[in-house]
Amino acid sequence: MTVWIETELCNGCMSCVKECPYGAIEIQEGRAKILDRCTSCGLCVLVCKQGAVHSDVVPREIPDFSDRKGIWVVAEQRGGELMRVSLELLGKAAELAEQLEEDVCALVLGWKTSGFAEELMRYGASKVYAADHRLLEHYRSDAYTKVVCELIENYRPNIVLIGATMLGRDLAPRISRRVRAGLTADCTELSIDEKEKILLQTRPAFGGNVMATIANRYSRPQMATVRPGVMKPGAPG
Ligand code: SF4
Ligand code: SF4
Repeated sequence: MTVWIETELCNGCMSCVKECPYGAIEIQEGRAKILDRCTSCGLCVLVCKQGAVHSDVVPREIPDFSDRKGIWVVAEQRGGELMRVSLELLGKAAELAEQLEEDVCALVLGWKTSGFAEELMRYGASKVYAADHRLLEHYRSDAYTKVVCELIENYRPNIVLIGATMLGRDLAPRISRRVRAGLTADCTELSIDEKEKILLQTRPAFGGNVMATIANRYSRPQMATVRPGVMKPGAPG
């Protein structure tokens, strides 16, 4: 798979340089040049108005996700206490929801969970789904995965956030595999791309030497786990 520039057509407008998520295009002597780090994602082909970028890669069509709405936080409780990371995620979810003009929902699984709804709503959830059963009192991979996946398939959220705790690190990949969605683990920052309205998920990469920002254009929900302690809970309402 190759991407190349037809230099006679290039006017050095920089559109492809700005679009490339991998910093793989430079302007040299007034013309674009593709660097070795190009991943052949094909985005620059789509933005060049001069038709100067060519590729033998067929760009993937982005599916219609207009039925996907809502930012979900899978809240974690232990022994009757909500884990602080759940409140931190609700704080971030509220920021993202404002930009997307979508609702924040919390999911809580356990036994005798009714007391959690009020606290989750005070910290930003506008809706709480509670799966309440004696068999969910303690974390079980299969049971928790089944319940969360069924809720995702029925209510079709746009984004699902889970704490990168012991529980979250076990649960999140199982869910993402089951619902065929991408997952970015151990994020330290989340934001919304202004233009595409998709989730930008930033996490350390290459042993922590660089920060990588990952976006998921082709599947939903957009799923991320977030390290505890890096985000702040919103002020309780
Ligand atoms: S977008 Fe096209 S014309 Fe503009 S710099 Fe890139 S290759 Fe050249
Ligand atoms: S194909 Fe993708 S990675 Fe390669 S130069 Fe174009 S935008 Fe950058």
